[in-house]
Amino acid sequence: MAELRLKNVEKVYKGGFHALKNINLEINDREFVVFVGPSGCGKSTLLRMIAGLEEITGGEIIIDGKVVNDIDPKDRDVAMVFQNYALYPHMSVYDNMAFSLNIKKEDKKVIEEKVGNAAEILGLTSMLKRKPGQLSGGQRQRVALGRAIVRNPKVFLMDEPLSNLDAKLRLHMRTEISKLHNSLDSTTIYVTHDQTEAMTMGDKIVVLNGGVIQQIGSPDDVYDWPANLFVAEFIGSPSINIIERGVVDGQVDFFGQKVGQDVIRDYNKKKVLVGLRPENIRIVDGSDFVVSLVENLGSEKYVHLERNISGKTFSIDGDERKNIIVKVHNSLNFKRGQEVGIEVSNTEILNFFDPDNGETLNEIK
Ligand code: ATP
Repeated sequence: MAELRLKNVEKVYKGGFHALKNINLEINDREFVVFVGPSGCGKSTLLRMIAGLEEITGGEIIIDGKVVNDIDPKDRDVAMVFQNYALYPHMSVYDNMAFSLNIKKEDKKVIEEKVGNAAEILGLTSMLKRKPGQLSGGQRQRVALGRAIVRNPKVFLMDEPLSNLDAKLRLHMRTEISKLHNSLDSTTIYVTHDQTEAMTMGDKIVVLNGGVIQQIGSPDDVYDWPANLFVAEFIGSPSINIIERGVVDGQVDFFGQKVGQDVIRDYNKKKVLVGLRPENIRIVDGSDFVVSLVENLGSEKYVHLERNISGKTFSIDGDERKNIIVKVHNSLNFKRGQEVGIEVSNTEILNFFDPDNGETLNEIK
């Protein structure tokens, strides 16, 4: 059982850098929460503050009702798994996993049982005598996980644990960690800059930028109803298409198709930014666009479209110059240079943003 509350948490580093600003967050028992954001957004700092490895400048971190601000890392009942594994190279897998229990002077039999169980869960039983240097990257990361598991902590804290692994192994370990989380009934906080990891692993995603929480929500909420342009563009690959449009009678003109929602009624005669995911656009007959590139991913294709200005009397500026990317099924064929039109396929999920501050005009779930 472990619930975490972060109340008005602040971090100012020596030298004055304000790394985290007014962080408020509730993490429920057994939740898998992912902190995601670009490099330097403060996600590792936040995790390290929860672990007790970094001093808290302001606010409170509360674990199961107890303020832990001044409690030693070893007494917080949390276990951290690092990106670089942090294994002792001269020790066997067994001794690495048993390390914290030996320090606590646990009974030898108990240690044997706990390490044995963790090794079983992680598929490391046959490797307990090896040294870290005799293991693959994925196996080393499993040992690092094992070392955390044997401590039976209230909370697992993981700082980019997969970033040293190759793409295939990352994918494999991603599902391993999710399964592990489920089987241990633990509360897990996982830091990554990879939005795919965040989307696939998290029950709850916390998107950070510039030391400020941008949005907290389920993967679906954050993907479908981003709180602002930053979240919209950070989550999702390829990135969401953003197009500027003027509102007329609560609607915008999307290359001949009128689309709208109640939320933009108040924006009559003003400009809004419309966000459309690449899978929410359909390529149709027409000549508004020219295919500039087709990326074939095997299961699907990303079709890049440029505004077609050949033979047109209008000139285009800024926003209209942006490529539009459309995700299509692999069976559809488009050729570079082909003239096409586009349509919104699901008018229920349209994101509108205020062009001045980038905040969503939609209701946030
Ligand atoms: P990354 O994905 O690159 O690890 P991050 O989101 O985890 O990034 P942090 O390591 O939490 O970012 O750092 C947040 C900000 O605080 C960065 O701008 C960083 O330069 C700054 N920072 C980190 N440690 C210190 C320090 N000891 N003193 C001053 N500033 C620091």
